[in-house]
Amino acid sequence: MTSSGTVLVVNSGSSSIKYQLVDPVLGDAVASGLVERIGEETGAIRHTFGDVKVERDEPVPDHGAGLRAVLALFGEVGPHLEDANVIAVGHRVVQGGDQFSGPVLVDADVVRKIDELSPLAPLHNPPNLAGIRVARELLPDVPHVAVFDTAFFHTLPDAAATYAIDRDVAREHKVRRYGAHGTSHHFVSRETARVLGRRVEDVNQIVLHLGNGASASAIRGGVAVDTSMGLTPLEGLVMGTRSGDIDPAVLIHLQRNAGLSVDDVDDLLNRRSGLKGLAGENDLRNVHALADDGNADARLALDVYAHRLKKYIGAYHAVLGRLDAITFTAGVGENDDIVRAMACAGLEALGIAVDPHRNAGRKKEPTIISPDWTSTVVLVVPTNEELAIARQAVEVAEAAGLPGTSDESDPAPASAGHA
Ligand code: AMP
Repeated sequence: MTSSGTVLVVNSGSSSIKYQLVDPVLGDAVASGLVERIGEETGAIRHTFGDVKVERDEPVPDHGAGLRAVLALFGEVGPHLEDANVIAVGHRVVQGGDQFSGPVLVDADVVRKIDELSPLAPLHNPPNLAGIRVARELLPDVPHVAVFDTAFFHTLPDAAATYAIDRDVAREHKVRRYGAHGTSHHFVSRETARVLGRRVEDVNQIVLHLGNGASASAIRGGVAVDTSMGLTPLEGLVMGTRSGDIDPAVLIHLQRNAGLSVDDVDDLLNRRSGLKGLAGENDLRNVHALADDGNADARLALDVYAHRLKKYIGAYHAVLGRLDAITFTAGVGENDDIVRAMACAGLEALGIAVDPHRNAGRKKEPTIISPDWTSTVVLVVPTNEELAIARQAVEVAEAAGLPGTSDESDPAPASAGHA
């Protein structure tokens, strides 16, 4: 990376816009903020630049108004975007389907394809696209790059990506496993290799991204070979409000016998399940507090959460054969030593263990938490999706030879990530 300048990273959700102005070389967030409750009666905007934090409660009718307010805050509070030398805008896009295997420079064709993929991610792609459209209007002179959550999992072998259902139905409706959280799994797998002092090509690893959403991946030599999220981010691990793996017959049963509609089932599995469904709380800190008070539901919730994690560790150990590293990341993975210990408990025969002293406490830096004797190193590596998006955005802009990103780079196809 040869650029000097900053990247504006935009994560545009259905009712929110998260943003960060990132220095991709130093890895620092220069400024950051959040627009919340877009389209509701009372909206809110928070902007942080250095020690200055500004909070405003005002209605934000749509994404355009939200982004305009953010740009105005950059002008008022700083940093001034002209002085910050913004060399690219990186947009998080959840679903790239079979169309995108890497980040791409946004043009009309890319906008159309993201739009066409909306049926696969109805809650995510439309707001992602709204952010892209508005940002391109407001910042027309800067390259905009779309970075897809699914792209890192484009390499999944067919055996891991295919659901065992009627192949014609699957083909017609693009039903396969796409994965999600790919930007984080990619970033953390590279960081893990760096911490181990090895080339990523030489490391077989499991990455456990445990946030409010949670996913596991099996990565052989830097290439993803399996992941726990599927057609949508509902499959796999137990999450804050999502069930993860479930017998599909449960859905049929509830629709036939409990009078639940398709929307009811969607709501149940995505918003009223996981830790929330089991313990009434989606934040693990609150689940621990309840469990410490003797709440049996909360204790069971922790056991179910850790049991699912352990099953995935065992499964991905088998998928990979040799396992060099297991890395915990995101809100739970970085902060919750109890969950880390529970997930790895009793796996000594597989060469996996956690050292209680090394594991203790929250980890702000990459930390090895296994004892020295294990064949698999267990680590905590903080994720940084914004930095990963910023770096990918610069790489795409540089490859396209866009002004401001590099002195030497030759013009090259900008949409190398199209599948
Ligand atoms: P993320 O989606 O990566 O921001 O992670 C958010 C989740 O991390 C929260 O819902 C909590 O469950 C969890 N979390 C954050 N801090 C802690 C902590 N100190 N201990 C346990 N869990 C935490």
